[in-house]
Amino acid sequence: VEFILGLPKAELHAHLNGCVGMEVLFELVDELDGESGGGPGTSSPTTLTKDEIRTGLEILESFSIDDIGEFFKVFGVIYGLVSTRDALGRVTRGVLGGFIGRECEYLELRTTPRRLGRSSLEEYLETVLDEVERYPKEKAGLIVSVDRRMGVATENESEGVITVEEVINLAIEMKKQGRRVVGVDVCGDPRSGDMELLKPVMGKVREVGLGLTVHIAEIPGSVSGDTQNLLSFTPDRIGHGTFLSEKEKEIVLERRIPVEVCLSSNIICKTVPDLASHHIRYYLERDHPIVLCTDDTLPFRTSLTAEYALLLAKPPFGLGLSREEVRRVAEWSLEVRFGGR
Ligand code: 5GP
Repeated sequence: VEFILGLPKAELHAHLNGCVGMEVLFELVDELDGESGGGPGTSSPTTLTKDEIRTGLEILESFSIDDIGEFFKVFGVIYGLVSTRDALGRVTRGVLGGFIGRECEYLELRTTPRRLGRSSLEEYLETVLDEVERYPKEKAGLIVSVDRRMGVATENESEGVITVEEVINLAIEMKKQGRRVVGVDVCGDPRSGDMELLKPVMGKVREVGLGLTVHIAEIPGSVSGDTQNLLSFTPDRIGHGTFLSEKEKEIVLERRIPVEVCLSSNIICKTVPDLASHHIRYYLERDHPIVLCTDDTLPFRTSLTAEYALLLAKPPFGLGLSREEVRRVAEWSLEVRFGGR
């Protein structure tokens, strides 16, 4: 553990609401009264009652995930609790403090803006950025996530529905104002959304110098053309990439696109059967940059130190890499960050 803790490294793929501490959630359930906040793409508060949230939390505590679809339900409970600006500020502070200086030198935290009660998407991001900016830029940056379930303006005219354009424009505007937005991410349930519709919007992200990372090929046989569409956004990094075809992998290698790898997440969501068959090996064998990340420490019961321990541990408990190989992985994480310099 000393060796791992002593390695300078960055965490680049951590979802804010997936990394909240369980203790904070139980504190929040006690404070809950009245309305709770909706999930991304929704404008109305969730209808979960306090008792339903408490039961949801208990299930989360003893959680076992049957498949990736099951996994996305977890967030309904968390959103029910992280439903005010005050709660959001508190959980953000906790997540930043849990990573920075303990588990990594630099954290690129990501989050999907939501409307909390009457507050706007901008206020959501301001609340998170106020916490991120308590740290120097060498320690923390924010990636703004768009959720695949969000609409695009042309298909979604109804009032209150959050659109991808709205979120991207906000990310760009806040960067222009000098706020610590370093990139944009595409996340959310991989079975939803038409990525072709996002193409025109994504071009804008690159123009203003924001980094772009996309969750890609997380499940087998995704919607036809999904992966090609996401690759056509020319991302600077990709998340997971578990089910890329041989041809798509060649593109990743040729363009030398760093791959954000989340070992426990893939094993627990059962998209990869075991470490021995994890695609991390493919990239390591080719000296292709990968970044080891946690994804969501809460449901996956992990930490960055635990993920690095999986690299070092001997098979079948880990990948059995040498210290030099693990050091190289840590170096990559700092080399391919969007901000922090
Ligand atoms: P938030 O963006 O609300 O801070 O963090 C939670 C959100 O991140 C979830 O609602 C989900 O959209 C996204 N997310 C977390 N983990 C994963 C993952 O493994 N795959 C994908 N595609 N999205 C994820």
